[in-house]
Amino acid sequence: MLKKVLVLGGSFGGLTAAFEVKRRLGEHIDVTVISKDDRFVFLPSLPWLVTGHRQAAALTLPLSDILTSRKIHFVHGTACGIDPVRMQVTTETETHNYDYLVIATGPHLACEEIPGLGPKQGHTHCIFTLEYAQRSREAWQKLLANPGPIVLGSTQMASCFGPYYELAFELDQELRRRRMRHKVPITYLTSESCLGHMGIGGLGASRRFIEDEFAKRDINAVVSHAVTEVEPESIHLDNGSRLPFKLAMLAPPFKGVAGVAHLGNPRGFIPVDSHYRHQQYANIYAVGVAVAMAPREPTPVPTGVPKTGHMTVRMAKTAAFNIAADCNNTAPLAIEDLNVLCLMGMGKTGALMFADPILPPRQRSLLKQGRWVPWAKAGLERYFLWKMRHGLSRLP
Ligand SMILES: Cc1cc2nc3c(=O)[nH]c(=O)nc-3n(C[C@H](O)[C@H](O)[C@H](O)COP(=O)(O)OP(=O)(O)OC[C@H]3O[C@@H](n4cnc5c(N)ncnc54)[C@H](O)[C@@H]3O)c2cc1C
Repeated sequence: MLKKVLVLGGSFGGLTAAFEVKRRLGEHIDVTVISKDDRFVFLPSLPWLVTGHRQAAALTLPLSDILTSRKIHFVHGTACGIDPVRMQVTTETETHNYDYLVIATGPHLACEEIPGLGPKQGHTHCIFTLEYAQRSREAWQKLLANPGPIVLGSTQMASCFGPYYELAFELDQELRRRRMRHKVPITYLTSESCLGHMGIGGLGASRRFIEDEFAKRDINAVVSHAVTEVEPESIHLDNGSRLPFKLAMLAPPFKGVAGVAHLGNPRGFIPVDSHYRHQQYANIYAVGVAVAMAPREPTPVPTGVPKTGHMTVRMAKTAAFNIAADCNNTAPLAIEDLNVLCLMGMGKTGALMFADPILPPRQRSLLKQGRWVPWAKAGLERYFLWKMRHGLSRLP
């Protein structure tokens, strides 16, 4: 009988896994993607949506079109639970059987862990989904009409730092272009133990680099602090101090999403082996932000290890390879270490950061600044959307 692969999530991890399984097994496999969102969104460009350099339509693809053209079924729905013994996933309305399951559900943004933290309710904005980035854009436009202090950055247990550095540089640039920078103090607030730490002990000389660039641009930094509460125009920190703001954009703490968290660690992230297979259930795989990944050493304020798009794609290809290997009774592929490659826009310039492996001590790391970086990032955006539109998981 035709084996069934069920993929939860329609983003970097889920789409790559679905396309790659289909490419490897063709007509011999039945693949279904269940996704809460019915669009793929190129998340790395959301800082540009806030500043108005991108519109939503340029960053999104309808999942039903791109999946059905590759003979992959698409279900627009939310996985509410997994029964690993019966090998079933339940959504709000249906039950789906599977032979292999790939969990690629990304993060739950746990705003509820900090009183007053947005963006669901509360007083702060965030740029981690298209909808939230659109709301951030509206808030940014209001700030331009009525200037005042901006606070942006990451709360404790957040594990994606790059976008808020990028946003700090982009907003600084926009304010200078409008000759308004003197009316808007910018503070970067973070749980990282130093600037440029990024949850991975830095990349190359990222600490000194960010410190210098913030100093040049007059961006104030408040480092290694947890947020205890947010009031309408003030953020309370763990040392009793407060940061006033007119506009605050903060990354909330990350957890695993509700429908899959029961298979995960206490924060709901899925423990996997080097094949990206669940440590307890051999036919369940997890990739991307959904995966549990321990930091090399704890920071004074807890931070998470980021799972970037580049890492997520590699995990998804590995999981797909191993599903095909299991179907064909061939040897699986193990990955011991991932690397990280990041392009950060900084207004007119930008920085390329690379580290291999992700956590120190490392074989190689690199940080290069240049005016070519925003162009390279725009090129990557176009290339990745083209690749997803055509279901081309094979290319890097
Ligand atoms: C603003 C921003 C900028 C970034 N910049 C970069 C960058 O420059 N470079 C880089 O490499 N990475 C970057 N990243 C990180 C990159 O986007 C992530 O690594 C990548 O999105 C992770 O993919 P994922 O598939 O694991 O999860 P996600 O992209 O979070 O996708 C999760 C998917 O699961 C679906 N889902 C959630 N819950 C359920 C459920 N219960 N049932 C079914 N479906 C569900 C969602 O609808 C979504 O389709 C950035 C991220 C953000 C937010």
